Amino acid sequence: MISLLKDELGWRQIFMQEGIVYNVLSTIPDKIPEPIIINRNLNDSEMIKIKSLLNNGLSVLTNFPNLKKIIPDFNYQQKKISYILNNDTDIFNNVIALDLKLDGYKSASMICEVKYGKGYIIALPFDINQAIYDFRSERKPFYYPSRKFPNEIVSVVSKGAVRKLVVNCIIKLYAAMNLPYLHLWYYPNEYTSVFAFRVDTDFGPEDTLQATFDLENKTTIPFTYFINTKEHPKLSRNQRDFQIHCYHHEVYKDYQRNYDNIKKAKNILEQTGIKSIGFVSPYGFWNGNLQKAMEDCEIQYSSEFSLSYDDLPFFPVINNRVSSVIQIPVHPICMGRLVHASLSPEKCIDYYQKYFDRQLQANEPMFIYDHPHRIAQFPDVFYQILSRAEKMSNLWITNLTDFYYWWKSRLQALNDSQWKIDNRTLEIKTRSSVNNIYLHVITPDQHQAFVPLKQTLYNLNDIKYKSIPMNVKTDTSYYPSLKSNKIKLQMKFYATLDSVLELFKR
Ligand SMILES: [Zn+2]
Repeated sequence: MISLLKDELGWRQIFMQEGIVYNVLSTIPDKIPEPIIINRNLNDSEMIKIKSLLNNGLSVLTNFPNLKKIIPDFNYQQKKISYILNNDTDIFNNVIALDLKLDGYKSASMICEVKYGKGYIIALPFDINQAIYDFRSERKPFYYPSRKFPNEIVSVVSKGAVRKLVVNCIIKLYAAMNLPYLHLWYYPNEYTSVFAFRVDTDFGPEDTLQATFDLENKTTIPFTYFINTKEHPKLSRNQRDFQIHCYHHEVYKDYQRNYDNIKKAKNILEQTGIKSIGFVSPYGFWNGNLQKAMEDCEIQYSSEFSLSYDDLPFFPVINNRVSSVIQIPVHPICMGRLVHASLSPEKCIDYYQKYFDRQLQANEPMFIYDHPHRIAQFPDVFYQILSRAEKMSNLWITNLTDFYYWWKSRLQALNDSQWKIDNRTLEIKTRSSVNNIYLHVITPDQHQAFVPLKQTLYNLNDIKYKSIPMNVKTDTSYYPSLKSNKIKLQMKFYATLDSVLELFKR
């Protein structure tokens, strides 16, 4: 299995998302059969050992300061990194760019790949743990060819993209050692991706809620509704997936008001016979006190794009501990943001089609969200968007609550399983009895196979491999303009206009 030199919560998060069993090395052994991640400073004697291991074929992922110690000729400077753009190497497979706004390093190339003896090194110019444990949020534009860019307040660091880049690096480390790379597949069976539709009921009048129920009935897609219980107190159990949005449509800085708000909403739902386990915050806002309030209200999953977006689920960290409430990130742009950016209905459908295509290619989830008043305004546009999802082959269509339960069973399986390869024999030891969880195998020559996770032996020569669908060349030419001052000012202007209009509405 892969090894870390220091147990850090950010790395633990990525390994849990990816479904990798790992170990932490307190000292550097004389033999290391699989790649290692050097995520702390090495002393001189450790450095000598690493160099000899590299000479004998070890693959290593590390940072610029450690690379400098291994290769003294390597030069770098400290630098604030705003974002890192895809440079058309396989390290950036399915990653357009990383948004960071973090202190980091710069050298002749943004990411360094170096052969060392029989070994191989990838060095990154920023700290992974720091990037994953960053809680800043800001208004960010999302690209679509139009005069105005749709935008939303989301996490500063694109954590899903950081994870994807790290995983691409790890796949390369395994290939360099001529070893297959194995992890738990992201979805049940061999589904390519997952789709779910989240509805935040907000301030929609009753008839808009009915329009949303009608839309759900017209499709085969089960929605998850997050209820503003002050506006919609009288929903009765009607076989739909009802969860909590809020009582007051607010997120507070302090614990107590957040707790009271969630608890009151939960009680109102309970009075009508609805037992809820999911919560999504108003405006997608997130803070540690909100997370603590969720825990104490026995919430099991939540979704806040100011913490993360377009990412696999994870447990947020508060007060240096891992929370028990799992975060399920969604795509943060809803129809209102597209209308605001002056996109026509045809272009709105195209925006989501392009998002679906990107996520499907990258095997990333497709979780979108919206509001009843927009659904009532554009029922046909929504029907067409949902129909596009329904038509995609090998896509798992579910609701957020059922996805949560499956993801929990995958986490349990990860906890209960170990696998190792010896002489082309894959030995799996597992206590998991869930029969739809698969191991994904990527060979050094980039073919893939899926094997059911069960207590057994597989001969790797007997498994059916397929080539991995090629990544289309990524157009990144537009990206720098997204980060320009002009766009920043434009977003600021429209955000101010929004808040003024909001004042007149109330
Ligand atoms: Zn809302």
